[in-house]
Amino acid sequence: MLASAAEPAAVGPRATILDVMAILKVARLGHPVLRQPARPVPPAQVPSAETQRFIDDMIETMREYDGAGLAANQVHSLQQIAVIEVQKNPRYPDAPEIPLMVVINPVVTALTEEQENGWEGCLSVPDMRGVVPRYTSVRLECLDREGNPLSVVAKDFFARVIQHETDHLNGIVYVDRIADMRTLSHIAEWNRYWLGIREQSE
Ligand SMILES: [Zn+2]
Repeated sequence: MLASAAEPAAVGPRATILDVMAILKVARLGHPVLRQPARPVPPAQVPSAETQRFIDDMIETMREYDGAGLAANQVHSLQQIAVIEVQKNPRYPDAPEIPLMVVINPVVTALTEEQENGWEGCLSVPDMRGVVPRYTSVRLECLDREGNPLSVVAKDFFARVIQHETDHLNGIVYVDRIADMRTLSHIAEWNRYWLGIREQSE
C-alpha cells in the first residue's frame, strides 16, 4: 500500500518533469508490516520498471525524512529491499558519510563477536532514541539495483546502519535490540540529558 502518486506522464518532452518520484508513507511502530519478514526479490524482477521506480521512491522518501536508511517494510512493502545513505544528515550530524547504496536480498554475517553500544533512531519510531548494541564488523552480501551480486565488509557506523536496515527486513525494530530500556528517550529529553554523556556513534 503505497502513497498515491501522480500517474506517469504520457510520452513527450515533459515526461521527465511530470513523472516525478513519490514520497512514500512511512509505517510507524505498531503497524503489523514492521513485524513481518520481507520476501526475497526474484533476481529477474530487479531490472523491471516497477522495481526500479520503487527503489527511486524509497531513496526519495529516505532523503525527504533525513533517514540514514529505509527498508521496504517501512513503506508498506514486504520486499527485501533497503536503501542506505548518509550525507551531512541533520538527524545524525556527527555520522560519517555513507554513499548511496541499494541493498536487495541481503545476507549479513557478523565478522566479530564484539558489539558496541550506540544511539539509534528510526523513521518508524518518530522522535525517539535508544542505545543498541551492534556488531562492529559485518559482511553484507546482496544484489545491487542492477541485480549484480555485491559483497561489502562494513565497520562501526556503516555496520550499524546495515544491521538496523536488514533487521527491518526480518521484522525486527531497533527497540527490540535495546539492552537497557532506560535509555529509550524522546529526542527533546535526549538532547537535554543524554547528548554528549554517553559515547555516541550515530
Ligand atoms: Zn528503522
